[in-house]
Amino acid sequence: MGTYTIVVLPGDGIGPEVTEQAVRVLHEIGERYGHTFQSHQALVGVSAIEAEGQAISDATMQLCQKSDAILFGAIGGIPRYEGSSSQERPERALLRLRKELELFANLRPIRPFKALLNASSIKQEVLQGTDLLVVRELTGGLYFGKPSEIRETPQGLEAVDTLLYTEREIDRIVRVAFELARGRRKKITSVDKANVLSSSRLWRHIAERVASEYPDVTIDHLLVDTCAMQLVRNPTGFDVIVTENMFGDILTDEAAMLTGSMGMLPSASLGTRRTAHGLFGLYEPIHGSAPDIAGQGKANPIAAILTVAMLLRHSFGLEQEATTIEAAVERVIEAGYRTEDLKEAGKEVIGTQEMGKLIVDAMAA
Ligand code: NAD
Repeated sequence: MGTYTIVVLPGDGIGPEVTEQAVRVLHEIGERYGHTFQSHQALVGVSAIEAEGQAISDATMQLCQKSDAILFGAIGGIPRYEGSSSQERPERALLRLRKELELFANLRPIRPFKALLNASSIKQEVLQGTDLLVVRELTGGLYFGKPSEIRETPQGLEAVDTLLYTEREIDRIVRVAFELARGRRKKITSVDKANVLSSSRLWRHIAERVASEYPDVTIDHLLVDTCAMQLVRNPTGFDVIVTENMFGDILTDEAAMLTGSMGMLPSASLGTRRTAHGLFGLYEPIHGSAPDIAGQGKANPIAAILTVAMLLRHSFGLEQEATTIEAAVERVIEAGYRTEDLKEAGKEVIGTQEMGKLIVDAMAA
């Protein structure tokens, strides 16, 4: 039993709809296991720009700094804020959160539900048994290195981006991967491009150094191109994949498609700060604000609900509570209930709220 402080940032579009169901599940867990989850809701994204003038206000940032974890919905999707003419863009909220809270480790678990194996474009027999976790470095590498610019030269335009990694950045992300592997099947695949890139050669060197402190975990190194191929050829061969920012960006989208729908996948971004309960983190579904279905009660809330399971597991160490949520989701899917994105002949299509209610009810089973 414990008392935990969570900032809830529902955001825009379907964000508030799916987050409402996630919070419902969180409070059900609180009641069932005797925990107190003090949740504070705040604006983020377009709704925050319109009400507070910023995609995330200083006051909301302070609230986040003091919390034990953040539950995030989705942002964006309003056309007048997508153009370059708009000064304040909704995405700034996520970038500010990641940067100021040092959320350097992005975790994306990929475990297709048995009953949904035919929702993927990959053959069932290849997918069966897939259970992998991608750990992506989130605050370094090519997306942050300077210089990054297009410039004029006497010979015409040229462009440069900088892929910089420090020993410290590599060490801390690889360490997160090893710690997580210890709670899983104890197998790490470190992905790089060491045959070409200096940053990858340093990555491999540091990964080996960290590995020597974890003799109970095995480590393999794979070139990123080979990894991309193996993910669709033999996804069951992976346990934990750890990689740098851009490789992770691309590989996680590829891996996401193993599960079929965007509406099914949660993610976690872990920081450096330790709270009284564990590691501080931000938890969000991988999907965006889905403006095409917003406000219609059609959104699949399962990704958002599974982020609650990740939050309980990774930031609060509440494994049993996390498993209770995941098992309830699986039961509802196996019973044949689907939101529209997973529509299948012979299965019942239900709305966002009903899916949330069924999952809460299934937690009692
Ligand atoms: P999206 O993820 O919002 O939607 C892609 C497609 O998947 C749409 O057809 C949508 O209806 C469907 N979809 C997504 N989530 C679903 C769910 N839970 N249930 C059922 N269907 C679902 O991506 P997009 O359309 O490219 O982007 C829309 C907006 O969201 C953009 O402004 C983009 O910048 C933003 N975005 C935000 C985040 C975030 O908040 N982290 C992430 C990605 C995109």
